[in-house]
Parts: sequence; C-alpha cells; structure tokens
Amino acid sequence: MLQSARRQFAALLGSAVLLSACGPATPSPSVGESVAPSASMAASSGAGEVVPAPGSSSTVYEPNPGAIVVAIDPGHGGCLDWGVPDPQERGAAFSEKVMALAIGLELKRLLEEQGITVVMTRESDVALAGDDYPDLGCNGPPFRDVNGDGETGFDPEGKTRTHDELQARLDLVNLARADLLVSIHINSLTQNGVVFEIAATQTYYTDETPWGVSATQHLAQQVQDGVVGAMDRAAPYERQDRAISAVNFFIVAPPLFATTPDRPDPTKQPRRGALMPAVLTEVGSITLAAEHDLLLSSAGQAAAAQGIASGFDGYFANRPLAARFDALIPLGEAGLVPTAVGGSGPPFWGTGVRRAELSVGVPMRVTNTGTKPWPDDLRVIAGWELSTEPYLRQAPAALDDIGLDVPPLAPGESVVLVVKLDVPVSERGMLWITLGNGVASLDDLGSAPLQLSTEGP
Ligand SMILES: [Zn+2]
Repeated sequence: MLQSARRQFAALLGSAVLLSACGPATPSPSVGESVAPSASMAASSGAGEVVPAPGSSSTVYEPNPGAIVVAIDPGHGGCLDWGVPDPQERGAAFSEKVMALAIGLELKRLLEEQGITVVMTRESDVALAGDDYPDLGCNGPPFRDVNGDGETGFDPEGKTRTHDELQARLDLVNLARADLLVSIHINSLTQNGVVFEIAATQTYYTDETPWGVSATQHLAQQVQDGVVGAMDRAAPYERQDRAISAVNFFIVAPPLFATTPDRPDPTKQPRRGALMPAVLTEVGSITLAAEHDLLLSSAGQAAAAQGIASGFDGYFANRPLAARFDALIPLGEAGLVPTAVGGSGPPFWGTGVRRAELSVGVPMRVTNTGTKPWPDDLRVIAGWELSTEPYLRQAPAALDDIGLDVPPLAPGESVVLVVKLDVPVSERGMLWITLGNGVASLDDLGSAPLQLSTEGP
C-alpha cells in the first residue's frame, strides 16, 4: 500500500536547469526523479578555521582515527536466524549467529582501542526488522516491511527470512555514513547433503559500484589476507585460502533498479544498497570440527577479529581521496546513528532539517579522511530530489556547485562550512551533499554523502 503511493509520488517531478560555477561533477545516470536544484538554490560562503588533524598512534588511520567510521555487521541474529547451525546439533549456542557476534564485538573493541568510531548493526541477539514467530517460540517485536515489497518475516516454513532485516542494517550504516561495512559470517561447506570437512576463508564484494574495483576489491583482498593470515597462525590444522569473489550478495550489492540476468531475483537484492565499500567475509567454516571448536573459543574469535582489523590497516593506508560529512545539528540521542522510529515500515530515516533552518544555514563539518591533501579545486556539490523513501539510494541526476570554498585540507584536518540553501520544493525533499571537482566526486569514490530531508514548511 505504501509502495504504490511512493511510485505515484515519484512521477510528479520536473526538469533541471542548473546554475553552476564548475558544472556537475557527477556523471550520474538520470533516473527521472530529480528535482531542479534551480537558481533558487544559492549558498553562502562561511568557512570556519581549519581544525588541525589531532594525530594519534593508531595503526588504522594515524591522522584522525575518530573521523573514521567502521560499520560491523555480525551476520544473522535474532530468535530464528541462527545462520548455519551446529552440525552436531548442539543448539543455538553453537550456531553461526553466536560466533559472528562474538567476533564482531571483539573487532569493535580492537578498533575503538585504535580510536576508530564503530557502528554495530547489532550488539546482542536481536533483529532490527522484527522477531515475532510465536509458533516457533519467538516473541520479539512485530515484523516490519523495511524494503517496501509488501512482505515481512519469514517464509511459511520459518526458514528463510525476508530481506527486511538486511535492508534495515544497510539503512543504519548508510545514514551513519560509514567508511566501510564488513559483514561477518561463518561458512558451512556442504553440497547435496555431503559435509566437506574443510577449513577455509573466503570474502565477497561487488564490482558493480562506481568505486568497485578500485576500492571495494582492495578492501576485500585486504580483509581476506588479514583473516587468512591470522586464522592460519591460530589453527593447528590445514586451512584453505579460497580467495575473494565478486558476487552480489544482498549486503554488499548495489541497489537494484531493474532485474538483470546476473540479478534476476529482486527479493535477494537490496532496494537501497551500501553507499560505501562493503564486504562479506566467511572467516572460517563450521563443517570442520576443529575449526568449529576454534571459532567457539575466545582465541579463535580474537584471531578472526584481528585478521579483519589488520585488513582495515591496509585499506585505509591506500585511500587517497576521502571525506566525512557531519551536520552540526541535533541528531537524536544516539548521535551518529539515527534513532529507530516505530511503526511497520523502515526504522531509519535521513535527518530532517526545517526549510527555515536551511535558508539560515546549517553548519557541516567536513573532514579529509584520505591519505592525500585535497586538491584546491574541490567544491561542495549538492542536489535535491523529491522522495518518500527514508533517503536517496543514488545521487540526484544533477549535483551543483553551491558556491562554498573548500580549503585544501591535509589528511585528518577538518573545517566547518555553512550550507545555506533555498529549498525549491514544498514536498519532502532529500538533499545529497558531497565534494567534487569535475574529475572526481567523493560519493563516487565511496565516501557516503550527507543526506538531509525536509518536509514542507
Ligand atoms: Zn552467514
């Protein structure tokens, strides 16, 4: 019901006439849903003082580790979704969801020790999109339709979860504007009922994002190498390096706009995909008993976490151009992460700013989170789109220079810019803000944009 209302709403829109000093920097595909960021979209200058990089002893990002946000998704979770079960059927305590969470929490601890900011999709055995299946003994909150497909919960056998849960996790990570997402899993190597008693690590990514090969594959390889190395050192048995593969699993895939031969099943693809490099790592396999025992131990869990963390060191050491954007406005109790709203639809929505506030000016901290100083022609570029979605899944068709000078910040430095705009729409619009210079746009390089929503006056 909500879905059809959305489609009708999206049909209303106008065309764009642009005023732009340096031209749109993002060759985004036109989606027929963009709103003119028109002559009324004028910004003021207002750069504050450059704040020096604090510096640190962090191995992950020495200049300014607190500006780096890593999103950790411990795979599966909740009452019904155990992930791969224990082959000896000793119960939920021995299942994938428990080990993935322990590894995720250890990874969080390691990264926070390095000063990195961490966002978790779950920190206990809960689900974001409901967990209500009384017939099977699960009495959590009601299921929600997060991706708008009209389906919720599990299939009639209670085996396969609809993809609302994964969509909710992606929404959380996107709105936190994480630098990367790692989804932690443990494999079960079986085929046609045959159990392969093999220990192995493999990591998945997508090569269909704008930043595909340059960033996501690099991240996947770093994580794979880190986990293989750490697990090999911890394991007193033979292990296999099963390498990285480009596969559009839900959590790593770009948003699905139309089905393709490679992606024929819309229920297995995200409506809103990760706006940053994302990888899914199967750190080990439950089907070799010795590996299962290792992954149930704190030593094995620590090895997997250390392996992933060391992969991040390699990734952030080789990311020349990146930015973080933070609107300096109240963001709710949780701050970085939007507070979940109630109801039956998506729990996480882009931060709302009143139109009056935008015409006065919204301060935004911009931080260089790359390894190279910024070029001096980098500009703030922004665009609007009418939307009833929680936030935009891709850049509006046009991103305009909004007339703000950006100092050529060194790695770790930040500056506050005041974004001042006349909102050209009275309906709910989403504003997408990033940096670009006609050569590169930082959202296309995997730095998630700042998205602000506005309702009518
Ligand atoms: Zn899994």
